[in-house]
Amino acid sequence: MTTVTPPSQAIIRPEKDTFLEEENPFESMMSRFDYAAQRLSLDPGLYKVLRSPEKQIIVSVPFLRDSGEVDVYTGYRVLYNTSRGPAKGGIRFDLNVTLDEVKALAAWMTWKCAVVNIPFGGSKGGVVCDPASLSNAELERITRRYTSAIIETLGPDSDVPAPDVNTNERMMAWIMDTYSMHKRHTVTAVVTGKPVEMGGSLGRREATGRGCMIVTREALRRLRMPVEGTRVVVQGFGNVGSIGAQLMEEQGMSVVAVSDKSGAVYNPKGLRIREVIQHVRQHRFLSEYKEAEHLTNEQMLTLDCDVLVPAAMENVITSHNAGQIKARIICEGANGPTTAGADKILDQNGVFVIPDILANAGGVTVSYFEWVQDRGGYFWDEDTVNQRLERIMVQSFEEVAGMAGRHGINLRIGAYMQAIERVAAVHRLRGMYA
Ligand code: GLU
Repeated sequence: MTTVTPPSQAIIRPEKDTFLEEENPFESMMSRFDYAAQRLSLDPGLYKVLRSPEKQIIVSVPFLRDSGEVDVYTGYRVLYNTSRGPAKGGIRFDLNVTLDEVKALAAWMTWKCAVVNIPFGGSKGGVVCDPASLSNAELERITRRYTSAIIETLGPDSDVPAPDVNTNERMMAWIMDTYSMHKRHTVTAVVTGKPVEMGGSLGRREATGRGCMIVTREALRRLRMPVEGTRVVVQGFGNVGSIGAQLMEEQGMSVVAVSDKSGAVYNPKGLRIREVIQHVRQHRFLSEYKEAEHLTNEQMLTLDCDVLVPAAMENVITSHNAGQIKARIICEGANGPTTAGADKILDQNGVFVIPDILANAGGVTVSYFEWVQDRGGYFWDEDTVNQRLERIMVQSFEEVAGMAGRHGINLRIGAYMQAIERVAAVHRLRGMYA
């Protein structure tokens, strides 16, 4: 594993592009990984190790419906790499969850934690279900049963979940409780993104959106574009999109469009984000919001704007629509919103993409702060959390931009290179237990 081979034979690259299934997130992740590994002349042994998830768990999750019937859902937990520390990554509840998606997301968590240089590996979990069709009591039973099914991997030193798509603080509380009941004592650091009352961190809820705002501001500065009046379009109005939009507005940017599953609302003069958030709290969806023009999600992505923030799901920007994107900057609030096929087109068109593993790393960074606070039993005020987050995001942006500049590549490959280099360095130091 430690033999160094010349760059030309360093990587056995799979046939790319022709075979790349654009919508498969694991392949999308791998094609960027391969390219970055090649640029780094990563030795073949390490290349093989870093391409392989450490552990993949598939579980059945039987639970009782409110009607008294038994149903069985499928759950996954993938630990991609734990060389730098305990595995870290969210759990999502969604009908489209697949093992390949969870593998990609776990790999992204590995690279993300390395990009911001926090001492974690990467993992991800998911349960295939439609949370909107489940009662609160059913969600609780599923969450607890899933937790007990994967309990061997969980623990503050081994694998620490957090919220992701369709999961929230309340569910993290159930995970913490279930784990603690099994251990016979309270273990707050087993999960992050918990309610503040039970060991959660101040600022965690806003952290991903705040991180997006910070890196967008840094990108504007780098491109010598003014912050004031910058026109922003945000796709997805959940935790990341809504808070990101609000914080960008507070910086003086003009958020001209936002969207959710029901469609997009657009006002070229700028929306009033607080009002939009209030509307969604009351009516759930944006579709009935009166103070703006209504568009489809697809139309919204190609609006004339300065910054586009895809903050919903994977595969939103593909080779089919990338050519029509007018934004100068894309800030990837979601994980994997841009396919590898789209990267090329965006590059050709000079779009400055702040990649997911950097752009949305604010969430896991404050998860790290939460874990540190839980373990130390000493809690920080919100200003301290925000200042430390700011410092890490700005420094990581600089490091990634520096790597990209030195190698004449885009920020995405720069971020992968930064991450792979850090993970590989630990593997080399630890050596191989054979
Ligand atoms: N689910 C979030 C992400 O994709 C947060 C993960 C965490 O805090 O562990 O980054």
